[in-house]
Amino acid sequence: MKLAVACGLVLSSLLAVSSTAEQFDFFYFVQQWPGSFCDTWRGCCFPDTGKPAADFGIHGLWPNYAQCHGGDDDASFFSIVGRRGKCWPEYCEREDGNALSPWEIRDLVASLGRNWPTLSCRSGDSFEFWSYEWKKHGTCSNLRPHDYFARALALKEAHNLTAILAAAGIVPSDTETYSLSSVSDAIAAATGATANLQCNRDKDGQTQLYQVFQCVDREAKKLIDCPLHMRSRCSGDRVKLPLF
Ligand code: 5GP
Repeated sequence: MKLAVACGLVLSSLLAVSSTAEQFDFFYFVQQWPGSFCDTWRGCCFPDTGKPAADFGIHGLWPNYAQCHGGDDDASFFSIVGRRGKCWPEYCEREDGNALSPWEIRDLVASLGRNWPTLSCRSGDSFEFWSYEWKKHGTCSNLRPHDYFARALALKEAHNLTAILAAAGIVPSDTETYSLSSVSDAIAAATGATANLQCNRDKDGQTQLYQVFQCVDREAKKLIDCPLHMRSRCSGDRVKLPLF
């Protein structure tokens, strides 16, 4: 009888672990160039804390699958399981709750304000942006909120994209354009890992560098070569890095 209870306990704890640990393959660490976020027809707004520095800002740290889960079988499986997107997990259920507590990240707030500011006009409150990112992506990261945000900040500090590009002569300008390969080569040479680039368009339809997607191991500590090549939305070979 005792043995049966013990086996039951071991089995249920194993099930609890496997049902809560997300089986993603790597993170996308996504940073946005504020000039390009603001320079579209949609425009932008500065957060309550004031105009952010002319520096890449964090958009998010997103768990991702190396292979999208497509096809009918998977679709029916995932429609039963619910909540999972096709190429990444999102909005995961956590035993410790899904809401981000300001208290838990209180020692990071000043640095998050500088490095992860919102530019959206929906709210000038960057905490809302962090909460949204935590709920949608962070809850699937297998990390506690403090580690999730601290690791994102550490990644940004370890690989300063603005400085890396400046060292390669790629500096913000409203007139200059840069070849896409010079941007990706500079990032690969300085960080030791390839990244994916994403562009958007300014009000005149000119292509500009909008976001850099760096790939990170499952611990959110080390950059890796990006296992997937994403659609860049960069038409042509040259991009702007507009002033901010
Ligand atoms: P995601 O791309 O992480 O799925 O969604 C980003 C969400 O955060 C959008 O709803 C967007 O309106 C909001 N948001 C708030 N501030 C920012 C910002 O500075 N940049 C971006 N890209 N999204 C922001």
